[in-house]
Amino acid sequence: MLIEKILIANRGEIACRVIKTCRRLGISTVAVYSDADAEALHVAMADAAVNIGPAPARESYLVMEKIIDAAKKTGADAIHPGYGFLAENEDFAKACAKAGLVFIGPPASAIAAMGGKSDAKALMEKAGVPLVPGYHGDKQDEKFLKAEAKKIGYPVLIKASAGGGGKGMRVVESEKDFAEALAGAKREAKAGFGDDHVLIEKYLASPRHVEIQVFADTKGNAVYLFERDCSIQRRHQKVLEEAPAPGLSEATRRKMGEAAVAAAKAIDYVGAGTVEFLLDAKENFYFMEMNTRLQVEHPVTELITQTDLVEEQIRVAEGETLSFTQDGLGIHGHAIEVRLYAEDPANNFLPGAGRIECLQFPRGADNVRVDTGVRESASGKDVISIHYDPMIAKIIAWGEDRAAAIANLKSALDETLVAGPKTNIVFLRRLLASEDFAAAKLSTGFIAAHEKELLPPKQPVEDIGFVLAALDLFIRREDRSFKGDMADWESPWRSLVNWRLEGHATDEYVFRDGDREVKVSVTPQGDYHAEPEVVMPDSRRTRVTVYSPAYVDMDFSVVIDGTAYTGVTLRDGARITLLRPGHNDEFTYLDPLGYDEAEEEGDGKLTAPMPGKVVAVRVDLGAAVKKGQPLVIVEAMKMEHTVIAPADGVVEAIHAAVGDQVHEKYELISIK
Ligand code: ADP
Repeated sequence: MLIEKILIANRGEIACRVIKTCRRLGISTVAVYSDADAEALHVAMADAAVNIGPAPARESYLVMEKIIDAAKKTGADAIHPGYGFLAENEDFAKACAKAGLVFIGPPASAIAAMGGKSDAKALMEKAGVPLVPGYHGDKQDEKFLKAEAKKIGYPVLIKASAGGGGKGMRVVESEKDFAEALAGAKREAKAGFGDDHVLIEKYLASPRHVEIQVFADTKGNAVYLFERDCSIQRRHQKVLEEAPAPGLSEATRRKMGEAAVAAAKAIDYVGAGTVEFLLDAKENFYFMEMNTRLQVEHPVTELITQTDLVEEQIRVAEGETLSFTQDGLGIHGHAIEVRLYAEDPANNFLPGAGRIECLQFPRGADNVRVDTGVRESASGKDVISIHYDPMIAKIIAWGEDRAAAIANLKSALDETLVAGPKTNIVFLRRLLASEDFAAAKLSTGFIAAHEKELLPPKQPVEDIGFVLAALDLFIRREDRSFKGDMADWESPWRSLVNWRLEGHATDEYVFRDGDREVKVSVTPQGDYHAEPEVVMPDSRRTRVTVYSPAYVDMDFSVVIDGTAYTGVTLRDGARITLLRPGHNDEFTYLDPLGYDEAEEEGDGKLTAPMPGKVVAVRVDLGAAVKKGQPLVIVEAMKMEHTVIAPADGVVEAIHAAVGDQVHEKYELISIK
């Protein structure tokens, strides 16, 4: 059976990625979108699009009937679920079949078999796949589980059986903490997954997370496409993945691959799936769970096996035989993926949201692939919504070997310019620059063990950053006064700002970065303003060349002391964000004509860190507060964020009440 039209029951980068393969195969595509996504890239890319309701996924992307209706209405003959949302929902797979639609994924029975971590472990035990030692039975009373934990030996890990995304997990170091951790895990599991069943495992000390990509067809063929090492995690969630796993012996690779295929065969698996293992220092491996869908990190496997897994999923769904055999598959080079997230690494990787003010990916770079659901353009104004996953893009690089892949990814990240919500880009750059990462000393504890190196306090801005900001402000001033044609950019008539009958007036720009205040002055020279003289923060004088920014698709393009600089600047009141390859700098511009800079900093106004709901106000009007005291708690994206007092003071005004929805930067409280 040939599939001619696929509805993609997802959004963001995975929807865009599936559409790309469909286009190549000549299959037409239908996107679905919530009200929040009407302008989204996946909608623009698809051949047709159907609105399926309000922004919350519960009312749109998770509503099976709406998606199936959309497929019927548009004449789609198959549904690709992507990952997340309904991808691992057996009822959805059944509902598709009932509606006469091909579900591009495994049979409902296989989804069900691997749906709960406890049942999956029981099943794998029978199939002879090694497990992390633990208890995964039905009994759930505290006393019994505590006794099991003792048997296993502390530390143990309590896991929600229905869990995912690292939620509903608690590490317990000793018996005295068990009861509280169990209650916490159950609460989170109930709230997150509607099911508080838990299992207990031995908590392995610094293991590696190594997972196997498997593929099976309806004819009984099943293969493994080698492994991915996903040890670099924060909050038990992946942030960097690579293939193959560095240093893995051929013997273990084969053993793990065969165990994964055995797991797939045990449940009559069809399509793409991933079997996740923990690997200890002696290369013992233990089954954790199987994900019955495509994974976020599938591109690294595609790059090293030279396959298109989405194409293969479609072929298998059409009833075809796998296009590869185990013997025909090989590993070519090395691939690494990083996930660029709207999140704040300095604040325990708190997810963020907001409008993307600037987004530029490396262009035309060899061996670099970018999978994204938001637009690449300096003026792109796509939004990372609080309603969905805060991933902005996956940046994936390939190389002949691991070192080459790291080098390619490093330069790709250097060339990626992003501003708007807080992102983890600087963190990712540091990760790739880490010596221990280069030496492949990988473990799930890597980030915690390298906190000092990966999450240092904010680094001071380099002098050149201030000079570039000054030149950018200078150029903008010139531009504003310029009424002519861009072709006349170098004409003396374009600018009258600093015109003097004799000589030129000097512009002074003062910036502040932390405690440091620096001054840069710019003096136009001659009739042409393209070569002003600059006095650097260290008082050195130099002539610079300013090119028309219009020619380079950047905000500025200048040559200083023989070095060329390009980049983008964003200004929000007194805040300057300066993006240039390898740097994301933020500092304050003390604009003599601008509004009082006290309004920007240290003025006692406390604002919401992200859009969300106020869940607690901890102070009363007129109360005296101490520096560091929690004042207001805002909940966003299922996490709580505490706004604390920046200094001692008295609460002068409270502008928020429990239950209020607040937007980012909304003023919550002011303190005198
Ligand atoms: P989820 O489905 O929520 O992602 P997983 O079971 O896949 O949960 O585990 C997520 C991560 O938690 C793993 O990649 C690993 O880093 C860590 N982890 C899980 N089980 C153990 C364990 N028994 N010992 C040590 N770390 C573990």
